[in-house]
Amino acid sequence: MKLTVLGNNGPYPGPGGACSGYLVEKGNTKILLDCGNGVISRLQRIIGLEALDGIIVTHLHSDHMSDLLVLRYALDIMLSKGMLDAPMKLYAPGNPAEVLKSLQYKNVFDINLISEDTTASLGELEFCFKPMVHPVPTYAVRVSGGDKSIVYSADTSYNSRLVEFGSGCDLFLCECALMEKDRGDNPVHLTAFECGEIAVAASAKRFLVTHLWPGYDSGEVLSEVKARYPDAELSVEMNAYNV
Ligand SMILES: [Zn+2]
Repeated sequence: MKLTVLGNNGPYPGPGGACSGYLVEKGNTKILLDCGNGVISRLQRIIGLEALDGIIVTHLHSDHMSDLLVLRYALDIMLSKGMLDAPMKLYAPGNPAEVLKSLQYKNVFDINLISEDTTASLGELEFCFKPMVHPVPTYAVRVSGGDKSIVYSADTSYNSRLVEFGSGCDLFLCECALMEKDRGDNPVHLTAFECGEIAVAASAKRFLVTHLWPGYDSGEVLSEVKARYPDAELSVEMNAYNV
């Protein structure tokens, strides 16, 4: 498998950055994981939109799905011109309902709702999901291709389900939106230290941190992660990672 980081900023992009979006490929199969602002532009530096086999969004927060709103128009044009022969497969949680409704535009998406029991087989890749702890329904995603696996945390506060779900994965892509100094009493994201703890507890073989707040010094974020997982790496936009 190959994972390309299209955008890793959150909850808004810094100068020249993009929010959450990851292209996962195996053979001819190409799936987009999350579709925050800036992602569709970055994706087309690598593949045409018609080459996508499907899109999975972990939750309906704007920094993970807002480019779907402009992708609607592209798909509408492509369908009408015969550049696509079917609506784009989209997996997403069903709430907030008003956000989901904005995606039910001219049936350009073939929408499949994600629940804990959902499994998806798209080309050469298999997907399963685990509910996380975040203000809207949010699912971590495990992608399997052959005997390799990628686990993506989506957005979440600390919870043991993510440790189980990530167990033994070849690549753990984990959100790291906070530092301990800003944790507060009721965080809706992981701190750098916490995501390091989860990666260690899950015995992740390779560990990339993502969902980086543009206001932090990324070197300081990485130092906090490395206090728990010394080989942690910052994800780099437009870098591809072979798994
Ligand atoms: Zn979120």
